Amino acid sequence: MDDIHGLKRSVSSHLEYIGQAVGRFRLEEAHSEQMQGQVRKERERAMTDLLTQLPNREGWQERLSFEFNRWKRYQYPLTVGVLDIDLFKRVNDSYGHKAGDRVLQLVAKELMTRLRDTDFVARYGGEEFVLLFPETSPKDAKAVMDKLRAHISALPFHFGSEPVTITYSAGLAAFSPGDTEDLVFERADRALYVVKDAGRNCVRIGQPAV
Ligand code: GH3
Ligand code: MG
Ligand code: MG
Repeated sequence: MDDIHGLKRSVSSHLEYIGQAVGRFRLEEAHSEQMQGQVRKERERAMTDLLTQLPNREGWQERLSFEFNRWKRYQYPLTVGVLDIDLFKRVNDSYGHKAGDRVLQLVAKELMTRLRDTDFVARYGGEEFVLLFPETSPKDAKAVMDKLRAHISALPFHFGSEPVTITYSAGLAAFSPGDTEDLVFERADRALYVVKDAGRNCVRIGQPAV
């Protein structure tokens, strides 16, 4: 009889021990999940531009590498865009830096909401934005960017009572055999500068040297 009681006590103390261990484990698990969540949040913060809430340059680099690797593997068309707001300094000079900030936020919002979910847009810096169009030819990407350009230039920006028209210029380039991330970016950037020299408010496709 004593044995039975002894056994019961021993079993119940073991069960208690196991219960505590499971409790501790759950707590640790919850803690580690919380930590992971925090790390994820910090990473996201580090990759987001504060003013526009778009991905920043770090976010861009990460996505560009990801899409570049996918392109190397699957070889579907992949187009890169560089977009620069026209004569933006004038907005700041005429209406103040706050007005300039508002323009950047609005343009960012239009880019974010009007592009496809599979497309990607980031704020590269200042009034420059960069875009990725996976599975899209430069010709199709140009059609998208021209439509967006027309839309943004028709937005009723008002500073004080003055209506202000905002336009942008953009360069596009598609990945082609032998390309690197930098080469494609430079090609798009060069196309952008051709547009700027030619008078702005236009989208141009940069062709690879043959
Ligand atoms: P272009 O058509 O040749 O691109 O002319 P631009 O005036 O747009 O180009 P420029 O490089 O001369 O001027 C860019 C201006 O963008 C100057 C800078 O003060 C302004 N800028 C950059 N970042 C910000 C920002 O975060 N907020 C505001 N308000 N202005 C910014
Ligand atoms: Mg610029
Ligand atoms: Mg500009």
